[in-house]
Amino acid sequence: MINRGYYEGFGGAYIPEILVATFDELVDAFQKAKNDPHFWQEYTSLMSSFSCRPTPVTFAENLTRMFKGPRIYIKREDLNHTGAHKANNVMGQGLLVKRMGKKRVIAETGAGQHGVATATMAARFGFECTIYMGEVDLERQRPNVFWMERLGARVVPVLDGTRILKDAINEAFRDWVTHMDTTHYVLGTACGPHPFPEMVSYFQSIIGKEARKQIMDLDGRLPSRVYACVGGGSNALGIFSGFMDDPVALVGVEAGGKGLDSGEHASRLCSNDARIGVAQGYKTYFLQNSDGQMKKTHSIAAGLDYVGVSPILSHLKEAGRVRFEAASDEEVLNALSLTMQKEGLIPALESAHAFVQAFKEAPTLSSEDSILINQSGRGDKDIFTIADAFTDPKWREFIKKKAEGYHA
Ligand SMILES: *Cc1c(COP(=O)(O)O)cnc(C)c1O
Repeated sequence: MINRGYYEGFGGAYIPEILVATFDELVDAFQKAKNDPHFWQEYTSLMSSFSCRPTPVTFAENLTRMFKGPRIYIKREDLNHTGAHKANNVMGQGLLVKRMGKKRVIAETGAGQHGVATATMAARFGFECTIYMGEVDLERQRPNVFWMERLGARVVPVLDGTRILKDAINEAFRDWVTHMDTTHYVLGTACGPHPFPEMVSYFQSIIGKEARKQIMDLDGRLPSRVYACVGGGSNALGIFSGFMDDPVALVGVEAGGKGLDSGEHASRLCSNDARIGVAQGYKTYFLQNSDGQMKKTHSIAAGLDYVGVSPILSHLKEAGRVRFEAASDEEVLNALSLTMQKEGLIPALESAHAFVQAFKEAPTLSSEDSILINQSGRGDKDIFTIADAFTDPKWREFIKKKAEGYHA
């Protein structure tokens, strides 16, 4: 088992002995599903009736005119059910859980987006669902917690440690060890022990498969560059996979936060603050000091605020196949405003990182080129976070009045 799931030294499965049989079962179910042509068919047909697939590619005509460079195309993962590409992963894992005959799913969530996606999947498949959340995150993300509970999930506050995502991960693993016969752990991104990086990327590859065909139909040729934001790495691997064997530059954009020199960012692959290490069951670049202590991370986008990164991306960085850049919080707000006002699109703060880098490079490309940006999610569902990020005074006043109204 330990020999599987390595990407030139990154990845692996560093798991407690007691979970080995459960992981073997999962690897086996995934391999069988992957080799069964009906499974992908079942998956795409489920996604077309439940989550608007295939999502369109939109030509950004006004931005293209403005930058006077390449034609700019946008893959619309924001149109998925629950507003982001996360639906691709959770629904795929749901089908696997059904195949394994399990009846209960658990997940951990920081920003709450993966929790909401998992709760919708559990409701659709009729699974029991428990979501672990650090108490601090739970308080910050009330709107997402509200939806998880309405969807029928049990949301458990984690009071250990610093009461954030990593503590919730530990608690979810404890639950899994106790209930592995009945329970599947739905990991939210292309991280963690094998087979999760491979499995999550496999489900997300639906983005790249669709996008390659769509841009060939629309533009008659391949794009010069493809841009995606990188949190754990799942939406990036999803769209990149469609162009991996083509002469197309792949650009991953991490959270530059308050700047790469500020220590307040979440850039693992293009800052000097990350080291290769083993944590949370896998080997990759983690934001940690020389003693292996994990560092605090910061991003304006909750979905990019994570210490680790997909081992597959660490490998693709070292292999020189994917280039990594960082976008600062301030650049993200500017790119988001521009995209909203020029195109009427509302990318999530996470996705806006990819737009930043695309906009930086567009003026250097020619009108012979085209580029493709993955809009991983929509921003309008995150009105609390985005209104805060823009420090909108009228919004603040509205919230105050609303709160007073409830107490009247
Ligand atoms: C969760 C999330 C991300 C980050 O996750 P990846 O695994 O890196 O894709 C990016 N964009 C949106 C909209 C998200 O919700």
